[in-house]
Amino acid sequence: MTDKEPKRRVFFALWPDAELRAALAALARSMPANGRPVPVAHFHLTLAFPGTVDRAKVEDMAAGADALRLPKLRLILDRLGWFPRPRVAWIGPSQTMPELEALAADLRDLCEASGVRMEERPFRPHVTLRRFVTRFESIDVEPLDWQPAEMALIESGQHGHPGPYQVLRSWPLSPD
Ligand code: ATP
Ligand code: MG
Repeated sequence: MTDKEPKRRVFFALWPDAELRAALAALARSMPANGRPVPVAHFHLTLAFPGTVDRAKVEDMAAGADALRLPKLRLILDRLGWFPRPRVAWIGPSQTMPELEALAADLRDLCEASGVRMEERPFRPHVTLRRFVTRFESIDVEPLDWQPAEMALIESGQHGHPGPYQVLRSWPLSPD
């Protein structure tokens, strides 16, 4: 491992299956917001964002995730909202989900244990549906019931440069 090896921009996320992707795509198209829908293959819920790190740290974090006891999750996505600064509209849970928060905290801890300094931002679980949204009032919607089958470690772009996402590793969420 040398300093010349490219870094990677990575994050842990819940990764929807094809059926939920289709439902999210329909919502992203039909919701009353400007901007433009996120491509269907991009939908995800970020759990922890280590960001741009050395390859060795990516391996350490993956090994840390191998050792985690992953919960079986059930998420109720029932609210559309908007983050003004990144100008994204999203769907997320209106209720706090303790198991989801605990998983996000475990991942954050394991990133730090791998030597990644994590930002202090609070965890705001959401799936981004549209970008370049200049104004949007939060509304409740027909709940989407999501029992995610897997958690994934995703690379955003390549070698630290922007581009499509790639699933580097994935882990099943408590198959009973
Ligand atoms: P782009 O930034 O190229 O427009 P993107 O936002 O989809 O695309 P990334 O910036 O790599 O790609 O972000 C990947 C995921 O991590 C997104 O869900 C993003 O919201 C989230 N994310 C980015 N930066 C942070 C951060 N500092 N803290 C928490 N989550 C973050
Ligand atoms: Mg970004």
